[in-house]
Amino acid sequence: MTNENKLKATIIILLIAIEIVVWTVNHPHTPNVLSGINGGDENVPEMQNPGMLEGRDSIGNKDEASEYDGSRERLFKNAEQKGLLILVNKENAIPEDYKPDDLKAIKYFVKDRSAGSRYMRAEATDAFHKMVEKAAEENIEIRMTTAYRSYDFQKLLYENYVANEGQEAADTFSAKPGQSEHQTGLAADVSSLSVDYELSDDYGNMAEGKWLAENADQFGFIIRFPKGKEHITGYRYEPWHIRYVGIPAAKEIREHDLTLEEFLQQNDIRP
Ligand SMILES: [Zn+2]
Repeated sequence: MTNENKLKATIIILLIAIEIVVWTVNHPHTPNVLSGINGGDENVPEMQNPGMLEGRDSIGNKDEASEYDGSRERLFKNAEQKGLLILVNKENAIPEDYKPDDLKAIKYFVKDRSAGSRYMRAEATDAFHKMVEKAAEENIEIRMTTAYRSYDFQKLLYENYVANEGQEAADTFSAKPGQSEHQTGLAADVSSLSVDYELSDDYGNMAEGKWLAENADQFGFIIRFPKGKEHITGYRYEPWHIRYVGIPAAKEIREHDLTLEEFLQQNDIRP
């Protein structure tokens, strides 16, 4: 190759090199890539899909929480529509003629109690059976003593208590007719051999009472009158009185140490 040719070749190479540089700078994709790299996190997300990335970012914060709330709300709404969240207490009475139309017999009961009260609403009875059977697997024996009570039966009970102990005393542990949630078919009093199948405060210290307090929510039941909440429920502590509200509400109530009254208020559910 002559010197002249060498010079031509060098010029061509240089021109090609310059062309590559110019192409690189002007090529539409190149600035994006560079800006993406240089801009770092600020620029890349904006160019790719700001909405998606912002959404993704807030899933961990707002979106996930609100989605969770939404599904919880739906579950609670569902329970409310099935009548599982009905509130019956000293301020909220139930009509005298109210009787659930889906009462179902309970299999596990104490035999020497009223046969007429061995019922709960079907869903509650099924849940109760599951709970008793699960407890039995862990050598915990739980039996129902009384569940559904008609208005008239509650009236009889209450009048008996008043006659024997006076109204003031009776009102601390017995509901007036129409104010007992036993009439809803969603409540049950339970007991065990450890306390001679009585309704006793000691039940809360027994293996069965403890098991209930720790596990009932998994089956949709709550300890309806917990210790320390007497001023809210209007009743003294009753470790034996369980109330069916469905699993989502029961878990929420147990997790946050609520009463049914507080739960309903917090979730803006009218009694
Ligand atoms: Zn009870």
